[in-house]
Amino acid sequence: MILVGIGSNLSGKVGAPIETVKESLNAMQSNGMKILSCSNFYNTPPVGPPGQANYVNLVVRLSSVLMPHGLLDRLQAIENQFERQRSVKWGARTLDLDVLDWHGHMIQGRLNLPHPELTKRGFVLRPLMDVAPEWRDPKTGKSVSTLWNSLCVTEQLKIEKI
Ligand code: ADP
Ligand code: MG
Repeated sequence: MILVGIGSNLSGKVGAPIETVKESLNAMQSNGMKILSCSNFYNTPPVGPPGQANYVNLVVRLSSVLMPHGLLDRLQAIENQFERQRSVKWGARTLDLDVLDWHGHMIQGRLNLPHPELTKRGFVLRPLMDVAPEWRDPKTGKSVSTLWNSLCVTEQLKIEKI
């Protein structure tokens, strides 16, 4: 299965983060990605430099004939279309599109798969559980619910369904 994580915490040309993430779904559909299912939307505190607004986070499950790097290229083009700036690492952004998994493949380089931060991030694991409760981390074989349950409760409580 193909899983993409979506995040936004900065208004852009189409409006507030929630509007941006909705529009990004249309852009993905027009770029060779078929959205099979979409998670709930979550309001989550930022990771990275302080002073940023909360994020809207979600995960989609896709079908696509695009190969992993081709998929990353298309997702980055969509980020750019929504005025994504790449100045500060983990800084505020209008749109972040991450490939979380591509059919269980493990790749290192310009594209790292599975996404290296995925297993520690509640804002990815919680929506991932919505769309793919049967998913397992290709590296460790751990299920998404095991990974979610290994986060401390205070971390879990920060991930609020919108
Ligand atoms: P982050 O998502 O960690 O906040 P960025 O969105 O700024 O970081 O991405 C930085 C770089 O990470 C991208 O230019 C891309 O080449 C690389 N990258 C590596 N693996 C992935 C992945 N699985 N999904 C998206 N980008 C990735
Ligand atoms: Mg990213």
